[in-house]
Amino acid sequence: MNVVIQRKLLSQAEKLCVQRNVRMTPQRLEVLRLMIKQNNAISAYELLNLLRHSEPQAKPPTIYRALDFLIDQKFIHRVESTNSFMLCHYFTDPLHTSAFFICDKCGQVTEKAAEKIKHLLQSMATQASFAISHNIVEAHGLCTQCVVHTL
Ligand SMILES: [Zn+2]
Ligand SMILES: [Zn+2]
Repeated sequence: MNVVIQRKLLSQAEKLCVQRNVRMTPQRLEVLRLMIKQNNAISAYELLNLLRHSEPQAKPPTIYRALDFLIDQKFIHRVESTNSFMLCHYFTDPLHTSAFFICDKCGQVTEKAAEKIKHLLQSMATQASFAISHNIVEAHGLCTQCVVHTL
């Protein structure tokens, strides 16, 4: 992702926080910046190490609080099956259902907005008289590059 797009995403996130009347602190913004730069899923531990370049006193709760905030604002997602976090690619559509495609070899995670899955789950939930609060779709396999190397 080039620097112009990175800056654009950051300012978009800041604007959304103003609209939603929530506080984007410099620390939360820095964590988001690191995740935008990363451009792939990252563990909380790796993020903490990166954050320590600018904030040497940062501790695990620091990073978890920032991550919780960014998840609440739907700027990032938690990838449950690998216990990592990644930037959301659909900032402006906070109600999207996403599907994650996780490469088991190199760890690359790709997000796709999955409208059809959302509707399917919704209709199954209605049949089951169930109210969905959130859902997670994660698929494991190999990315294009790793498939090529395996052949
Ligand atoms: Zn997303
Ligand atoms: Zn791969």
